[in-house]
Amino acid sequence: MISTFQTGRHSAADYDSHVEIDVDVAILGAGAGGCAAAAALTERGLRVAVLEEGSHWQPHQFQPSSIWAFRNLYQGRGTRTAQGNGLLALPGGRGVGGSTLINSAICFRTPPSVLARWRDESGCERFTDAWMNECFDRIWETLGVTVNPPEVQKDNNRIFKLGADRLGLPGDWLARAAPGCVGCGSCQQGCEIGAKRSADRTFLGEAVESGGAGVYANARVLGVETSRGRVIAIGGHTLDPHTEAARGSFRVSARHYILAGGAIGTPRFLLRNGLYGSPAGDNLRVHPTSGMIARFDHDIKPWTGVTQGYYVDQWERGFLLQVYNAPPDQAWLQVALPPAEAVQWMANLRRSAMAGVVVHDEDSTGQVTEDGIEYSLGDNDRRVLFDGLRTAARIYFAAGASAVVTGVQGAGTIDPACNLDETLKDGTSPWQIGLYAAHPMGTCRMGRSPADSVVDADGRVWGWDNLHIADTSVFPTSLGVNPQVTTYAVGLTVGTAVAGRVG
Ligand SMILES: Cc1cc2nc3c(=O)[nH]c(=O)nc-3n(C[C@H](O)[C@H](O)[C@H](O)COP(=O)(O)OP(=O)(O)OC[C@H]3O[C@@H](n4cnc5c(N)ncnc54)[C@H](O)[C@@H]3O)c2cc1C
Ligand code: SF4
Repeated sequence: MISTFQTGRHSAADYDSHVEIDVDVAILGAGAGGCAAAAALTERGLRVAVLEEGSHWQPHQFQPSSIWAFRNLYQGRGTRTAQGNGLLALPGGRGVGGSTLINSAICFRTPPSVLARWRDESGCERFTDAWMNECFDRIWETLGVTVNPPEVQKDNNRIFKLGADRLGLPGDWLARAAPGCVGCGSCQQGCEIGAKRSADRTFLGEAVESGGAGVYANARVLGVETSRGRVIAIGGHTLDPHTEAARGSFRVSARHYILAGGAIGTPRFLLRNGLYGSPAGDNLRVHPTSGMIARFDHDIKPWTGVTQGYYVDQWERGFLLQVYNAPPDQAWLQVALPPAEAVQWMANLRRSAMAGVVVHDEDSTGQVTEDGIEYSLGDNDRRVLFDGLRTAARIYFAAGASAVVTGVQGAGTIDPACNLDETLKDGTSPWQIGLYAAHPMGTCRMGRSPADSVVDADGRVWGWDNLHIADTSVFPTSLGVNPQVTTYAVGLTVGTAVAGRVG
């Protein structure tokens, strides 16, 4: 039984009733940011404990079932939502690997214009082009980022490219962290063949293999001890992996602490423990998304192929269009039609294709509180979302679709003869839109002053000597592209900064 620090990977069954750990650096959360920070610290010879409330997973344990995945791999068992002027599903990962366990493996480098804005407006001095390019090169190599071949992409991706090409819209195959992908389409339930290179199998693997990291799964961090502007220890419960009931306790003392619980978990930890008030939790950005299903007269089988393999670039208009696949039990939720019509659509699912709009949110407002999540879609972001939906419909019609359906209540079945401006209206209430977002960010933003930010350019929480943050919450603004690569880069950056302080 484990009662002190040990390197390697540990789970609930290994723990004594109380575990007392003493290390150089303690990390809360084993997602993209936490795992990259662990790699940066251990390669400089430091001893690191990573505390993660979810479990360790081996690829063969994953099951291609939404219910199984929600129960075992998702925050709030798949029910996490935000409410404001509408309802937004806000999925996130829970487990060693965090959201990378369930993501689609898409890799985008941080857009240079966003990095320049972060440096100019928010003083993110460490994010120089030279440093970030070094991080991107390392991430590309570690994650094996590549574009999967056409035979693996299959028709759900190919048909969207066909329509976009016919309209002359710019786009490309998505680079992905899944070099051995066979196109089973189940990324969001975990990759059963281990082709997806998630954080637990890559950066965290490096940290463990270096002999410097101990990874404690099923360990939820709840509290903190402080003295004179320093954190002295963090502690919490070890959990039953199935029920999440407390089974024991742990306490970790370290010279430095890094919070990497994601853009919901990290501000919540600060707020609940009175470590920081507003603006912690403010400035929530999410890339609001809404989907579309298109019907063709031939088989597409949208549940096969790369989960998300092709995108159309409309950056200047504030959105990207990305193909996705949803298993039938989730596709159902996106068919906003009367029951009889919806059943018809579901019966024809094998002849359907799916894509969604990813909005670069600018005027929406959101906040994480101790117990809730609020998000209200701004008027301009809503206009951009509908611009994206209409563009996706035009792409599908150009590819030969006979009809499309959206998650917008009242829009009905839309055929090529419909006036898209009339059926997909900018002024639709957000309550009528099926909204989804998998990219929460910005809730502990980096900046120049404690008045309007939570961390400084090193990722250090203002007012605390040895407390840092390394996850999507430090993004000063919405990113505009899928965030895992930027999050890994944040983890490497903050891990390097903390190593400099410990050393
Ligand atoms: C369904 C889905 C698909 C996505 N697809 C893509 C994609 O294709 N490409 C892309 O770039 N991005 C994608 N993303 C987003 C991307 O995966 C995330 O933005 C990124 O992984 C976030 O990293 P993070 O370190 O901020 O947090 P996370 O990876 O979410 O990790 C936070 C971890 O902290 C743990 N934690 C929280 N609080 C505590 C606590 N108190 N004690 C212990 N542990 C705690 C959580 O359990 C979790 O494991 C997707 C996300 C989802 C949900
Ligand atoms: S689509 Fe590829 S990466 Fe995703 S789960 Fe299937 S094999 Fe793994």
